Amino acid sequence: MEDFIVAIDGPAGSGKSSISKIVAKRCNLNHVDTGAMFRTITLEALNRNINLDDENEINFLDEIDIKFDGAKVLLNGKDVSVDIRQDIVSNNASKIAKIQKVRDKVLELEKNFHGRIIMDGRDIGTVVYPNANLKIFLTASAEQRALRRVKQNDELGIKSDYNAILEEIKQRDINDSTRKIAPLKCAEDAIKIDTTSLSIEEVCNKIVNLINER
Ligand code: C5P
Repeated sequence: MEDFIVAIDGPAGSGKSSISKIVAKRCNLNHVDTGAMFRTITLEALNRNINLDDENEINFLDEIDIKFDGAKVLLNGKDVSVDIRQDIVSNNASKIAKIQKVRDKVLELEKNFHGRIIMDGRDIGTVVYPNANLKIFLTASAEQRALRRVKQNDELGIKSDYNAILEEIKQRDINDSTRKIAPLKCAEDAIKIDTTSLSIEEVCNKIVNLINER
């Protein structure tokens, strides 16, 4: 079977993962969350207590095995799906994601997926699958993305500070879009969707329509 790839890129909090999950179900695609791979490597680095700013200390990549089991992420066989969502991981992942050998490791994993796939990340349409069948770039104002995060936290019973979250989001945008290797950017042939004033359902409907047209 020939591969059919939908690439979804965009900044932190633009709704990539939630939207990709829903679209995957509706269009019978397998969802691959590439941010989860960078998060897993970040978690391992944090567990090892190493200096994340020193590339030489990231010397464990051959010792780790990252696998997906449905929605679960396994690190050397252990389910780390919840651990990789901690704030400390979110706020440190962009340090790890700018290292070439880390990106090479993740690229190798990304290339193992075949068939009907919806893959979300930062560089899927530009680096990982430049020939994807459909490329979407999701955006939303930083303020709207911070509000969504506060709401998500409220639903989980976690107290959060809007201004602190807004600053973290802005910092991640800067880190992800200014790095030298595979920066966050919209591919020339991607369809840009600004989700600031759209509901999740409206965004999903747009993407499902675009998939059905391919
Ligand atoms: O998508 P998510 O926010 O879970 O990704 C966590 C981090 O992983 C991002 O802030 C980014 O630094 C990095 N990432 C990346 N390339 C991707 C996916 C994620 O650099 N394709």
